[in-house]
Amino acid sequence: MNIGGEILMMLKNEISEIDYNRYIKQLTFSTAQSKSNYAVYFAPNALIANYIKRKFADKIAHLFEVRTGTKTVVSIELKSAKKGKSSAKVEQKSEKLQHSLLNPSYTFENYVPGSSNQFAYSAAKSVSEKPGELYNPLFIYGGVGLGKTHLMQAVGNVLQHQGKSVIYTSVEQFLNDFTSHMRNKTMDRFKDKYRKCDVLLIDDIQFLSNKVQTQEEFFHTFEALRNEHKQIIMTADKKPKQIAGLEDRLKSRFEWGLVADIQPPELETKIAIIQKKCEINRINVDNDVINYIATIIEQNVREIEGILAKLHAYAQLMHQPITIEFAQNVLKETLEEKRDNISIDFIMSMVAKELNVKPSEIRSKNRSRNIVYTRRIAIYLARELTPMSMPELAKYFGMKDHTAVSHTMKKINELLQNDEDFKVKIDELTNKITTSIQE
Ligand code: ADP
Ligand code: MG
Repeated sequence: MNIGGEILMMLKNEISEIDYNRYIKQLTFSTAQSKSNYAVYFAPNALIANYIKRKFADKIAHLFEVRTGTKTVVSIELKSAKKGKSSAKVEQKSEKLQHSLLNPSYTFENYVPGSSNQFAYSAAKSVSEKPGELYNPLFIYGGVGLGKTHLMQAVGNVLQHQGKSVIYTSVEQFLNDFTSHMRNKTMDRFKDKYRKCDVLLIDDIQFLSNKVQTQEEFFHTFEALRNEHKQIIMTADKKPKQIAGLEDRLKSRFEWGLVADIQPPELETKIAIIQKKCEINRINVDNDVINYIATIIEQNVREIEGILAKLHAYAQLMHQPITIEFAQNVLKETLEEKRDNISIDFIMSMVAKELNVKPSEIRSKNRSRNIVYTRRIAIYLARELTPMSMPELAKYFGMKDHTAVSHTMKKINELLQNDEDFKVKIDELTNKITTSIQE
């Protein structure tokens, strides 16, 4: 099933059966015309297209964002329609609308606090209670998919509900806005927009790096808002100080309020997040499946949503409950894809680190017992976890030919069968390698 189909299966769960059968079911996803941030569906006639546009297009766009992490513009087109001027217009309009849109499901209720994000969570909560007073700006930083955007928008959603004007934007949109107002000589409108809002949320501020003119403009926006005690929240992948190519006056200002980090979630938080996502999306899974998913995903929480969406879509399609076996089957492919991404160098560095041996020693001709042992483990793991063939491995490890590799595999497999402690150790290593993010 393609992503467009998966999204419709997710939608099915949220809407009435009549709406689904009568309208949504008639959509076909155009893989040819869709891009990573632009989804095209074909409807059989204008009536259906209009109804879906009005009632479901936003929901579909939201599901795309949840599923892929990318803001997506959804276009519902007529099956035979050629791409004419009118559809281009619609597209432009929705793109313009995008930036102030908050994702309605990014709320505090839907956010799972845990020790990895406690500090940022509490800070965001406080800011939502006293915007512009306590921590201004609030600067949230951390790795990809750890919930920075969610947390920032949770504050935005609270304040928007209170009637405050909230702008959510990216550096790129800010820059586009700036240049187009410059070009059209409408800078007053630009200033009005960004300096008269109550709350400015600006995502992934690290992209300001080396953009001199945008930094200049942002500096003035920042000053204007702060002077008026308007709340500013920013996110980034690193601390202000560590953002290269950022003016010092901005770096220091970004630290005026509060700088809070989000760390990768520990197992318990991961489990709690999965439970939460199941609850929100009304997906029924047993605890053992939840635990299983928690152990196979990496740190990136965004992966959880993709996995759940996939399981849910397949379960609906095949009319089956999501059992452990079912999950393992469906996710086999996902895991294998991941596997293809594990490089031999990464395995070498992990094995070397865990067993306290230098990577160069593993590949050397050194026959000391400890090194031979480590080398065998590295070969075994490389064979299991990468797509490398035996001859390729022989070459990599400087062995005579593939029979030497096959001999090693046999030895390790024997050990695995007879030595429980050894098996635990190898399992642990495998887990570490498959769940670490490779740089
Ligand atoms: P970032 O902006 O840090 O890359 P996002 O805010 O886009 O990450 O989060 C990615 C996905 O993970 C979102 O769907 C978000 O809802 C979810 N997520 C991350 N952390 C949590 C959490 N603690 N509780 C619930 N959902 C979370
Ligand atoms: Mg983000």
